[in-house]
Amino acid sequence: MTTSTETSGTDLVTEALRTGTLAGLPEGHFINGGFVRPAHNRRMESFDPGRGEAFAEFAAGTAEDVDDAVASARHAFETVWRDTLPVERGRILMRASRLIQDNLERLAVAETLDSGKPIAEARGDVRGAARTFEYYAGACDKLEGESFPLGPDYLAYSIHEPVGVTAHIIPWNFPISTAARGFAPALAAGCAIVAKPAEQTPFTALMLAEILSQAGLPDGVCNVVTGTGAEAGAPLTRHPGIDHITFTGSVATGRQVMKAAADDITRVVLELGGKSPVVVLKDCDLDQAIAGVLGAIYENAGQICSAGSRLIIERPIQDEFLAALAARAKALSLGHGLRGPDVGPVNSAAQLDKIAGFVARARQQGAEILAGGKATTDPETGKGWFYEPTIVARLSPRDEIVQEEVFGPVLAVQSAEDADHALALANDSQYGLVAGVYTSDLGTAHRLARRIDAGQVFINEYFAGGIEVPFGGNKKSGFGREKGLEGLKSYCKTKSVAARIT
Ligand code: ADP
Repeated sequence: MTTSTETSGTDLVTEALRTGTLAGLPEGHFINGGFVRPAHNRRMESFDPGRGEAFAEFAAGTAEDVDDAVASARHAFETVWRDTLPVERGRILMRASRLIQDNLERLAVAETLDSGKPIAEARGDVRGAARTFEYYAGACDKLEGESFPLGPDYLAYSIHEPVGVTAHIIPWNFPISTAARGFAPALAAGCAIVAKPAEQTPFTALMLAEILSQAGLPDGVCNVVTGTGAEAGAPLTRHPGIDHITFTGSVATGRQVMKAAADDITRVVLELGGKSPVVVLKDCDLDQAIAGVLGAIYENAGQICSAGSRLIIERPIQDEFLAALAARAKALSLGHGLRGPDVGPVNSAAQLDKIAGFVARARQQGAEILAGGKATTDPETGKGWFYEPTIVARLSPRDEIVQEEVFGPVLAVQSAEDADHALALANDSQYGLVAGVYTSDLGTAHRLARRIDAGQVFINEYFAGGIEVPFGGNKKSGFGREKGLEGLKSYCKTKSVAARIT
C-alpha cells in the first residue's frame, strides 16, 4: 500500500472527487499474507452511495475461498501465532496502529467512497481503529491468570488460552471500526482471523489485513474473504474449522449465524440491532441535550446500531426542545461524503427504500413530521441515495417507528410525564443496546442508568466512552461484549490447572 500522510489528504479527496474512485484499491481476497484471486474468478461491484454508481470491483468469494482462508488461519495459528511471545504480539499491533495512522487519508477516502459517510466521520473511524490497535497492543502481555487457594497440598492456577481460529462477519455501517474492534483483541489473545466484510463495503478490511502484514503479522494469521453473506458469510459461519464467531449485523442474520454456530457448538458474540432511547429530562442543559440528540441520530445518517433513534422528552420542555431541534435538523447540510457535509447518503438504494417505507407508514398512521420526511439527492450533482434528517412525532409506544429499527436519519419522539414514565418508555423495547440520559440531577441520572435495560448508558454525552469501555447488547440486541478488557476475554478460553504437590 502506498503510504500517504494526513497532509496529502486533501489531494486524495480532490482526486477521488475528480475520478470518482481511488487508485490502487485491493483486488482479490487476502489469504496467507497476500492478495489472491477468488476460486471462481468472479467479481462484484461496489457502489459509491454519494453518487449511486459503481466505483470499483472486488472478489466474489465462495466456500472454496473460505476453505483456503480457514486452512491458512489454522496453520498459522498452530505453527506460529499462538506461541508468539505476547510482547512480540504487542509490538506488531503497535506497529499496525502507527501504519493505520500513516495511511489515515487513504483509508478514510476508501471508507467514504464505499460507505458514503462524511470524510470527517471516516477519518474519526480510522483514528479509532488506530487507537483500538494501540489499546490492545498494551494488553497482550497483561493477560494474567489467577491462582486458587486449595491449601498446602495443591497448586491450582488458571491461564488464558486463545480460542483458536475466529470468524469476523462485518457490517457496512462501520467497516474499519468493526474490523479493528474484532481483529485487535483476537490477535492480542493469540487467535487467527478469517473476516468477511459486508459486500457493500469490502475495501478497508482488506487494506487493514495488508497493513497488519506490513506490521509484521505472520502470513495466514489474518485473512479476509469478500463476497455476499449467502456465498461467503454462510460457509464461514458453518465451517467446522472455526472456533469462534464475532457477528455484527441485523437480528435476522444474527439468528441465522447463531443457528449455524449451534451445529458445531461454536462460540458466538452477537452485536445486533437497537432502538436506543435518549431520555431528556426537564432539568437538562438544553444546548447540550440538543447537540447530543442531533449527533445521536444523524451521525452516519442514523446507520448506527447504537443510534439514539428514540427521543423520550419530558413534557414541560417538549415544545421548546422540539422547535429548536427541528430547526437544527433542517439546517444540516447534505452532500457527497467527500465534500464534507453534515450528513452523507445512506448506504444503498435498498436502505433508502426501507427508510422511506417506515416514514410513509408512520405518516399514514397520523404521525407528525417535524423535519425532513423525504428521500432526496446530492444538491450539487442530483445523484446519490439521500434521506433528509427527519423527526417524527405524535406517536404511541406500539407504533412501528417506535419499536422497529429504521437504520436511517429518522428520530421518533415520545413524550414522558416524568423520569419514571421515561424509564418505562425507554425499557418498552425488544432491544437493549445503549441509552442516553440528559439531566442535571446526578441521582436521577444514575438511578436511570441502573434501571435502563441496555448494555451501555451515556449520561449527558451520547456516545461518551472509548475502546476502554465494554460495549454490547441485551435482549434482541445480542450478547457478549466487545471493547475493553472484557472484549479481550471473548477471544480467550480459561484453563484451570490443579495439581497435587505433596
Ligand atoms: P444488512 O441486512 O443490513 O445487510 P446483515 O446483518 O445481513 O445486514 O449483514 C451483516 C453482515 O452479515 C454482512 O457482512 C453480510 O454479508 C453478512 N451476512 C449476511 N447473511 C449472512 C449469512 N447467512 N451468514 C453469514 N453472514 C451473513
